[in-house]
Amino acid sequence: MKKKSNKINVTKAFLPPIKEYKKYIDIIYANSHLTNQGPLLLELESKLKAYLKVEHFHFLTNGTLALQLALTALDIYDGEIITTPFSYVATCSSIIWGRCKPVFVDIEPDNYTIDVKKIEAKITKKTKAILAVHVFGYACDVETIERIARKHKLKVIYDGAHSFGSVYKGRSLASYGDISTLSFHATKLFHTIEGGACIVKDKSISHKLDLQKRFGHNLDEHLILGINAKASEFQAAMGLCNLEYIQKAMETRKKLCDLYDKELHGLVGRPKVQANLVYNYSYYPVLFKSENELLRVFKALGDKNIFSRRYFYPSLNTINYVNGESCPISEDISLRIACLPLYVELGSGNVKKISQIIRDTLQIKQ
Ligand SMILES: *Cc1c(COP(=O)(O)O)cnc(C)c1O
Repeated sequence: MKKKSNKINVTKAFLPPIKEYKKYIDIIYANSHLTNQGPLLLELESKLKAYLKVEHFHFLTNGTLALQLALTALDIYDGEIITTPFSYVATCSSIIWGRCKPVFVDIEPDNYTIDVKKIEAKITKKTKAILAVHVFGYACDVETIERIARKHKLKVIYDGAHSFGSVYKGRSLASYGDISTLSFHATKLFHTIEGGACIVKDKSISHKLDLQKRFGHNLDEHLILGINAKASEFQAAMGLCNLEYIQKAMETRKKLCDLYDKELHGLVGRPKVQANLVYNYSYYPVLFKSENELLRVFKALGDKNIFSRRYFYPSLNTINYVNGESCPISEDISLRIACLPLYVELGSGNVKKISQIIRDTLQIKQ
């Protein structure tokens, strides 16, 4: 057997005991139903609906197709979409892939979500929607976004790829907006290997999305233009296993985050979590004083086989095929922010070791 490496990455996919996954694989083999809304997928959808307390839920093959489907289900095929420059590239590339134009609004320095005070100045006759991101699982100002959207008759989509498990004012963070998307990629807090979801507010839009995710037809009746965003039974099986561990996983991650807080107190910037948010501990972002400081820490960690990631860098408005207007806060934060390793098996010893390296690096005067 391969020797276990002692490399530490920013994240490590959670794997349930193989016996538990195998039990579901046996079921798949017994009934030969591999995909196309199979029994395990339906079981997972029903469990996730109950967990998130939402009504219209679609388990999909990944979080990027979820974003693309959100646009088409809401009839957005062109025009401008107000969005955030501080996210993973899929947020913005989905807009461009959908032949729309991303219009960037800068972010809050406190929690890196879209700055709602700057949204209205960017609305034009062509604006169709606001696509905001609950980045790292922190909540956007959903009430103000809702108010602005209603006033200007815009749709609201949340890229909730990081929001699974976060609860805002007693509701799942992923339940806000006309459509909220999730990603269940292997690196995410809750995963189905590859996977994603759309949570839809309106029943008729949910029905439309349901058709669009499976080529837009019922047997020989072709109703609307669709695509293939169906997830398989193997993905659903992983989800059914992992859902059993999600509560415990969040508790373990909270402990690791609390320890980082204690060990790194005063040395790095940290986001302000909203008072009404029950956080999911999906990431541990830290803000350094400068890019130079970040690079020195990365070098010191890398020398010890520990790999942080620059989430999110560069600011999306600056990438070559986007070429958006400047967003000074996002551009500045993107240069200085990183996510430290955080996963269930990390262990408090490693948190202490990582923190010690960071302390040693930052306390050496340059
Ligand atoms: C991971 C991620 C996505 C894409 O999800 P996939 O399931 O990998 O397609 C979209 N937006 C954000 C913010 C993400 O972090």
